[in-house]
Amino acid sequence: MCKQMLSFLALAALMMVIVTQPIGAATNPGKPSWNYAQHGADWGQLQDADGSFPYATCDTGQQQSPIDINQVSRTDLGEINVAYQPTSLRIMNNSHTIRVGYEQARPASTISIEDTTYTLQQFHFHARSEHTRGAGNYTPVELHLVHKSAGDELTDGQLAVIGVQIEQGSSPNPTFQPILDNLPVNETEDAQGNYVYLSYPSETVNTLDLLPTPRTTSAGDHRPYYTYSGSLTTPACDEGVMWFVVKDYNYMSQSQITTLTAVAAMQKNYRSTQPLGDRTVKLYEVN
Ligand SMILES: [Zn+2]
Repeated sequence: MCKQMLSFLALAALMMVIVTQPIGAATNPGKPSWNYAQHGADWGQLQDADGSFPYATCDTGQQQSPIDINQVSRTDLGEINVAYQPTSLRIMNNSHTIRVGYEQARPASTISIEDTTYTLQQFHFHARSEHTRGAGNYTPVELHLVHKSAGDELTDGQLAVIGVQIEQGSSPNPTFQPILDNLPVNETEDAQGNYVYLSYPSETVNTLDLLPTPRTTSAGDHRPYYTYSGSLTTPACDEGVMWFVVKDYNYMSQSQITTLTAVAAMQKNYRSTQPLGDRTVKLYEVN
């Protein structure tokens, strides 16, 4: 075999590796990788190289998310005041979900609850829904809008997550179409293995329409919600997260749901519901 042929074969072999190897999951150095094979039941036991359990809170935490929303009491917390802005699309596939970024969005999209303002950081999807309404009563998709308050020099801001359950509707929802048209099927990584956003400056997401159409009352727009104190639903399952699960559903068409959930990162990427413990779920709703 001539030298040229050999180098051609070597190149071909290299190409095969590049094409057929799954793109390595970019991970935090030293942190064990995790997946949804057991929907979170194994996360607490995953070990670091030094033998420690970095996600122990997933097992030992007493205020974990998601939960089954079943028995509720009333809250007088008040309306979530939403000041969302249309934003150009930045989208990421990080192997665990499809995420749309707002960290750099100007003007920022914010919500305010009582006297605190929280800025939208990102939203992402789970399939099926993580929260349930009565055991086993779930929707095909759940959207998580992750917000953070400003914090100060001593403390980081507090996280407030709005959960929107998405059911199957009879027609496509135009709000989600720019996302579905530019869905990154493969993980979006840079050369160093960090997950990065792909930017589509000419595509606009109408952030306000990610929420279901508000009810109309004499006092104005009304979005009933359930609220409770919980955690992140991915490792390290950090607690101290304020949850607001919107009572009304948003929708996608069957075809849109199929497109979203065909991506490997979106296949059954939900954590099982967690014990409520001594927490209460509160409902805000104006009749
Ligand atoms: Zn989430």
